[in-house]
Amino acid sequence: MDEERVREAVELLLAEVGEDPTRNGLVRTPERVTRALRFLTSGYETNIEEVVNDALFAVDGSEMVIVRDIDFYSLCEHHLLPFFGRCHVAYLPRERVIGLSKIPRLIEMFSRRLQVQERLTNQIATSLADILDPLGVGVVVEATHLCIRMRGVEKQNAFAVTSAMLGGFRDDARTRMEFLELIGRRDGSRALIDSVSPTVRVESAR
Ligand SMILES: [Zn+2]
Repeated sequence: MDEERVREAVELLLAEVGEDPTRNGLVRTPERVTRALRFLTSGYETNIEEVVNDALFAVDGSEMVIVRDIDFYSLCEHHLLPFFGRCHVAYLPRERVIGLSKIPRLIEMFSRRLQVQERLTNQIATSLADILDPLGVGVVVEATHLCIRMRGVEKQNAFAVTSAMLGGFRDDARTRMEFLELIGRRDGSRALIDSVSPTVRVESAR
């Protein structure tokens, strides 16, 4: 990121929305926005190998591993406005597992890039499938999009649920059901339970 160019761009934006970029409250805004943007897009500066950092361990057996309620914050690539919510990840190990703390780190890497929710969901699932070669992976992402809420389009309370189901989670309804039950989405999630990946649904906030 060329920070000088970003600061100039923010200054231009401030002027174009009708502001005076030289007034007191705004003088340091280009600098702050640049720093914030750098953090919010820091996922471009890392990669899967760096995040995983060899934290893979051999296992016997294939009990489902679940990490649920992982908070994430991202920016939608259409409006550069935040979308955020929770992510639930499960997999059925074949021969290895990944250190549990690595899953939130992986989600962080993908969410700190410009995203659409469907791609974020799929990237989390396929990267875990690549890293672990598991018997299956399931990912469910529930998010609120400020570009919908703040702009007053569609339902104010709408939030989106996306899922990606690979391997056993796609082929075996019982595995999928077990995952959805464990993340508390059994009720009213018939479409998710019956679905194969990817799916996108919009529903009212609970
Ligand atoms: Zn948007």
